[in-house]
Amino acid sequence: MGQSVLSISGATLARIAARTGTPVFVYSAEAIRAQMRALEAALAEVPHRIHYSVKANSSLAILALVRDLGAGVDIVSGGELARVLRCGFPAGDIVFSGVGKRPEELAAAVAAGVGLINLESEGELAALASVLPAGAPRVAVGIRVNPDVTTETHPYTQTGKSGMKFGVPLDQVVSLARRVADTRGLELRALGMHIGSQITSAEPYRSGAERLLGLVRAVQQEGITSLTTVDVGGGLGIAYGSGPALDPAAFASAVAPLARSTGLTLLVEPGRFLVGNAGVLLTRVLYHKRSGGREILVMDAGMNDFIRPSLYQAHHEVCVVDDGEIMLARPHASRIDGAAGEGEQGATVDIVGPNCESGDFLALGRQMPLVAPGALLAVLGAGAYGFGMGSNYNSRPRAAEVLLEGDRFGVIRERERPEDLMRGETTSPRWETV
Ligand SMILES: *Cc1c(COP(=O)(O)O)cnc(C)c1O
Repeated sequence: MGQSVLSISGATLARIAARTGTPVFVYSAEAIRAQMRALEAALAEVPHRIHYSVKANSSLAILALVRDLGAGVDIVSGGELARVLRCGFPAGDIVFSGVGKRPEELAAAVAAGVGLINLESEGELAALASVLPAGAPRVAVGIRVNPDVTTETHPYTQTGKSGMKFGVPLDQVVSLARRVADTRGLELRALGMHIGSQITSAEPYRSGAERLLGLVRAVQQEGITSLTTVDVGGGLGIAYGSGPALDPAAFASAVAPLARSTGLTLLVEPGRFLVGNAGVLLTRVLYHKRSGGREILVMDAGMNDFIRPSLYQAHHEVCVVDDGEIMLARPHASRIDGAAGEGEQGATVDIVGPNCESGDFLALGRQMPLVAPGALLAVLGAGAYGFGMGSNYNSRPRAAEVLLEGDRFGVIRERERPEDLMRGETTSPRWETV
């Protein structure tokens, strides 16, 4: 499937959990490197740049790892800009995307000298023009096109269809390109798209790329000769358990013609693809109860730590952590299915969080051994949109994060403490007259 097959021993995970406590996210550095190698190999024949989409997992140690692999970054906020600058990414390796950039975020990006700012509306062009310092070097700008393509993903992860908030509608692109070219201090360098997330078919990339190709031609026919780059976005889908994945080679062949026939450099912005299957969430069983014929395991991690099951009805494999190897990524990742027959009685189990919400679960109706309180479980595929989408709901401190590097591990983010939860709050504000 083009996905790397990597594993972590259960004994290693159990030792980490014993040292750090739970819940804890554990990321395999080697798994991230393997995904980067796989994508580089697929794109080897095409002039390209890989820019990691920071929002998938923005922890500094993950960013540093990606930087050391030679990738650039794709950011969507001023906060992400601060993170990548702290990590030492050269400004030229930063692409600033996003539908709602504030004027002050645009100003910060210009001041930092980021390599490309992807505009998503005419209003944003005006906002950018208004923060350009006089006499400064020209700012490289891209236009994110909404190519009006359909992707077969959860509705919340579709972004490339007409009528959605993302991108510039096809029929407005050329006139916006004209206006960018006519704006003093700006240079139109790229046209791009980002059509969604967890896309497992190459087809929407192919049709999106065809539309981008037409637009590149149309813009060049306007006499605009400054384009250097076509940005095909991210969204490359990975295998969650037995689900399908996008084959990087199929992705590459869908987008390569766009680069070949235009002579422009391809920009790819993977997030989930690089880190999703590199991470697991370790969580312990607090309690077991039986209700209405269902076996329920109440865990110490829930939607505040990992919201994807609740928000997207996302399927994540959940493994009992024992001494065996836990496969991070393969089309049939479930060890539970295999383990259930071996001695222990299998059961159908709901694995739920501790929060006061019925929608707070990690997995429902799973066939697995009915383990006792204290048992350690691993939620697989938790490296992307895991920690970063976490919250303090129910005033729960956010989990710790750990990086596994060979046979060593390091805490890359401490578990939050109760004091952290109340930072900035006061019961005696400085009252001001309205
Ligand atoms: C979120 C995002 C990405 C990455 O999406 P993945 O599905 O994680 O690959 C890339 N580009 C832009 C503009 C994004 O907003």
